[in-house]
Amino acid sequence: MALIVQKYGGTSVGSAERIKNVARRVAATRAQGHDVVVVVSAMSGETNRLVALAHEMQEFPDPREMDVVLATGEQVTIGLLAMALKDIGVDAKSYTGWQVAVRTDRAHTKARIEEIDDGKMRADLEAGRVVIVAGFQGITADGDISTLGRGGSDTSAVALAAALKADECQIYTDVDGVYTTDPRVVPEARRMDTVTFDEMLELASLGSKVLQIRSVEFAGKYKVRLRVLSSLIEGGEGTLITFEEDENMERAIVSGIAFDKNQARINVRGVPDKPGIAYQILGAVADANIEVDMIIQNVGEQGTTDFSFTVPRSDYKATLELLHNSQSSLGAAAIDGDDTVCKVSIVGLGMRSHVGVASTMFRTLAEEGINIQMISTSEIKVSVLIDEKYMELATRVLHKAFGLDQNQAG
Ligand code: ADP
Ligand code: ASP
Ligand code: MG
Repeated sequence: MALIVQKYGGTSVGSAERIKNVARRVAATRAQGHDVVVVVSAMSGETNRLVALAHEMQEFPDPREMDVVLATGEQVTIGLLAMALKDIGVDAKSYTGWQVAVRTDRAHTKARIEEIDDGKMRADLEAGRVVIVAGFQGITADGDISTLGRGGSDTSAVALAAALKADECQIYTDVDGVYTTDPRVVPEARRMDTVTFDEMLELASLGSKVLQIRSVEFAGKYKVRLRVLSSLIEGGEGTLITFEEDENMERAIVSGIAFDKNQARINVRGVPDKPGIAYQILGAVADANIEVDMIIQNVGEQGTTDFSFTVPRSDYKATLELLHNSQSSLGAAAIDGDDTVCKVSIVGLGMRSHVGVASTMFRTLAEEGINIQMISTSEIKVSVLIDEKYMELATRVLHKAFGLDQNQAG
């Protein structure tokens, strides 16, 4: 008998029928003799609806109140799933994040889990109940409701699996595993039986929303056995995230491609080219809890330089406003930006031992007339910032160029 944490995403609980389908799956796992803790998301579209409503009230919704609103989506699905399970004779009990309690820091709308009390869950499991926990939410030390950032139910699930020392954490979604890229954009994408932890971490951090980045980080830290599977089709092994590189396996140089539209570029033009200027610009951005990703500072001319960086698109307006407010103290000639850009990245452990991967990427994009605005690299990835209108084209041609298309599989 194993302890399994199963997480069902928005599409998987997107209608009454789908919730009943989840109940049947959970019941089947119980019938095999396993203990089950289920984490659910809000019904698909619900969190977007709540975000839009909040923005009708305030241009920049108050973060604490935003979380009060956002957390309601998951409260509906936990209750409904508990009812669906009881209806088919499976004892179950639902908990919100604060009832568990899932304790987080105070960073509203992007809180991090700090600690999870497992007492109530253990008692229910012992009593033979299925435990259902609302994903995406927790409680701060002040007793305020917090949420974990979009896609955060994945992280709730992995964190619960770590706290409970579960045998496996299964992420059920609307695709049957992790693919070489989003199969909705490239139909030729291939499902991977396994993907290494390092590659999954890069793919998730670079925009593959199949797993939220923090869920992968948690899995790495606590060595949680993590698998991505389909809730819509029966059977299948999905994709297992592995922690060891198989020495004998011939690794593809590039194993996956990620893209991310949640990007915006900010340009701070004509600032004095002197020590401390990067800190002056980015320090203010960091103080506002805005994450900066790619950064370029050009070679200075006549004592001034241009400085560009990217931020999440949702922070674009706030970043511009913040910098405009300090434009005179920065001594900047102009501050502008572009929120119609996207980032496309190639990822692969095999890159470590191969040269010329980046140049193949640049050539492939050049052949399509796609201009590269910014580049960043690490040992196992190359990212480029391009106009968002080329996102799908870039992903498709790179997928083919690196031999990832189904029909190219060797
Ligand atoms: P859920 O609501 O179940 O959490 P998400 O929409 O958050 O589901 O994540 C699943 C989606 O991730 C898929 O429908 C797919 O479009 C997208 N996706 C992006 N990159 C990949 C990838 N490399 N492999 C599989 N799916 C991917
Ligand atoms: N419902 C939340 C969202 O849409 C959390 C999740 O689905 O993981 O982001
Ligand atoms: Mg998700």
